[in-house]
Amino acid sequence: MSFSLAIVGRPNVGKSTLFNRLVGRRLALVDDQPGVTRDLREGEARLGDLRFTVIDTAGLEEATDESLQGRMRKLTERAVDMADICLFMIDARVGVTPTDEIFAEILRKRAAHVILAANKGEGSAADAGVLEAYGLGLGEPVRISAEHGEGMPELYAMLQPLA
Ligand code: GDP
Ligand code: MG
Repeated sequence: MSFSLAIVGRPNVGKSTLFNRLVGRRLALVDDQPGVTRDLREGEARLGDLRFTVIDTAGLEEATDESLQGRMRKLTERAVDMADICLFMIDARVGVTPTDEIFAEILRKRAAHVILAANKGEGSAADAGVLEAYGLGLGEPVRISAEHGEGMPELYAMLQPLA
């Protein structure tokens, strides 16, 4: 059985980089509902022998500080309701931010399956951020580098039992 995975998290943590890595050159399917195209991008992902639908969330990038929280909540809830599994991404080089804490709270309340990914995990600059991620109450983080392709077997191992 196939499943869908939504990648959520604050701007600039590396969501689209992971989306592109999982989808590769396969054409992304674009939802042409008004307002959806810009905020949610869907593609057919491959990871090892897994085939699944991956949803990239954008649409927070141009939000102002005042509108960010409301938009985050709406967009995240929509992605969570659409997808079987949520991959919540933080930037391990920055560590856990107050915005990350808000996402974590939404996900703890709403999402059935959450995978916590500490991205930008290549190198020792990420060590402290990976440890901080344990404090989010979303289980053990998977340390990945979307840009360098590190941690993909570990991500596979987390997804495989849920497939
Ligand atoms: P998004 O806003 O969450 O979709 O983030 P993007 O995928 O656009 O990435 C934001 C920035 O982080 C870009 O400059 C990426 O090249 C960079 N980035 C993404 N993944 C990694 C990573 O694993 N390591 C490092 N060092 N940079 C990364
Ligand atoms: Mg993006």
